[in-house]
Amino acid sequence: MASTKKLTPKELQEAEERLRTMLQIVSGDIDQLEEEALGEDNPIADTTGEAGTDSFSMEMNLELLERDENTLREIYEALDRIKDGTYGICEGCECMIGKERLKAMPHTRNCIDCQRKAEQGLL
Ligand SMILES: [Zn+2]
Repeated sequence: MASTKKLTPKELQEAEERLRTMLQIVSGDIDQLEEEALGEDNPIADTTGEAGTDSFSMEMNLELLERDENTLREIYEALDRIKDGTYGICEGCECMIGKERLKAMPHTRNCIDCQRKAEQGLL
């Protein structure tokens, strides 16, 4: 089911911060930067009352991040999409990618359905 919930400016900003952190990690510039990013305790009071906006934390598993050029390119492209205002839109079916998925994989370009299809060679 396609979600049509758009990202709020705050969520976009969070995504950008995550992507920039990832960029540092993937480009190998990790040591002190990771600590900065993770230690930067920035409690954002969530007063929107919107369901699904969990507290902001580094939920993505940094360990799982692949440090290769492909990932690097995807991060850059995701940052471009934030600038263009197309971030969060699936390239496959043009639905909004789920927010949970974007939190876990801010550089993803496909929704979970399209990702599965791509993995099965259907796209
Ligand atoms: Zn899709």
